Amino acid sequence: MPERPDLDYAVPILGRERASRRIEGVVVKKPVILRLALPGSPADLLVGRSFTDVVRRAHFVLFPLGDIEMVIAPMLAGRLAVHLATQRAPADLAMTLALDDGRQLRYRDDVQMGKVYVIPAGAWNQVPGLERVGLDVLDRAAFTFERFKALARRRKDQAKVFLMDKSALDALGNAYADEVLFEAGIHPKTWVRSLGDEELVRLHRAIPQVLVRAGREIAARAPATDEKVRDFLSVRNRHKTPCPRCGTPIRKAGVHGHDAFFCPRCQPETRKGGIVTWGKLAGVAAPEKDAGAADAEGGPAKEKKRRSPKR
Ligand SMILES: [Zn+2]
Repeated sequence: MPERPDLDYAVPILGRERASRRIEGVVVKKPVILRLALPGSPADLLVGRSFTDVVRRAHFVLFPLGDIEMVIAPMLAGRLAVHLATQRAPADLAMTLALDDGRQLRYRDDVQMGKVYVIPAGAWNQVPGLERVGLDVLDRAAFTFERFKALARRRKDQAKVFLMDKSALDALGNAYADEVLFEAGIHPKTWVRSLGDEELVRLHRAIPQVLVRAGREIAARAPATDEKVRDFLSVRNRHKTPCPRCGTPIRKAGVHGHDAFFCPRCQPETRKGGIVTWGKLAGVAAPEKDAGAADAEGGPAKEKKRRSPKR
């Protein structure tokens, strides 16, 4: 999904390009993405309105349009760009807004998991996950260690799950949560409650470090707004390739329904009671790849049963 560094780069560009442009037409190619909280067709609701701004909020992109608001949740694969109407439409085009300067705002989504909501202005409670947004991790005044520690002390989940909770932290997704944990040297499955002050300090420091570095890299590359630059990441999607720090092959495991990439040497398992893997559960030494697969599928559920019966 486009994550915070992608959106922090793309949203101001979209904002500049769309400022005060009027919507003249709407074509929805993939109706499955649409969620209208108001009566009428997309054209009834949107045509004739002008963009005033484009805003990022957690992993959403908000387009205020007077007394209504269009909210895009790009989810896994959604992306936004402005193109000339004469430019060929890509196969994954989900929705097009024709603008009064002959250009189009295009929303692409090749897995159609993203959503485009049209809601009354400010009715953020109508979009799951939009209303409650956590601490802005790039706001130095807001994201203090004391606040981060207070948040962490309330958590009953694993480090990766905590980092990805946008109602706690604004905002990390799958990719940058992995990168932050690598930077901090913390295993993605570590229970947050087991993290000591020193580890929390590392984690708190790693979050802005990783995001700012990514932001600079993306800005330097200056990709199109619908392009996702990820080739500079250290561990994400680098299964079996050497760790950039120690050379150990990067591993992949499942954490509460998400995949996590990590270096088993730089991010050692620290949970008391040992790691729950297929091999240990079955009482045999599982081959590397089977252990990973079992971890990904059955690991978190079994852990929940064994370790956190009250959750
Ligand atoms: Zn390593």
